[in-house]
Amino acid sequence: MGNCPACGGPFGGHEYALFASGVCGRPSATMLADALEKDDWPRVVKCHDWEGSENNAEVFAVRCANGGMVVLVVFDPFDLFLNAETIELKVLSHSEGHDLDRLIDRAKWKSFNY
Ligand SMILES: [Zn+2]
Repeated sequence: MGNCPACGGPFGGHEYALFASGVCGRPSATMLADALEKDDWPRVVKCHDWEGSENNAEVFAVRCANGGMVVLVVFDPFDLFLNAETIELKVLSHSEGHDLDRLIDRAKWKSFNY
């Protein structure tokens, strides 16, 4: 996965959380895309539509040890022959990252394991 675009360091010591999702082709994905475009994090965290038999858009936050925050939007296809693909990447400012951090359930954070 390379280095973190926020702090430039390796991903060891980072944590990540899947905190929002939408089903491609459904209104949920349109709502999610709109909230992401406006950086409307309180609205983004409320998007939880997910369907195992459809293509999903999943939104991950990656948290740096130094307080940096990156948001990744991943296209997760139902078709097993297609690979998940990052379709959008945002590096948040420290204050914006802090605001998002407070919106994400602490239990959702996981460590990168090597
Ligand atoms: Zn980082």
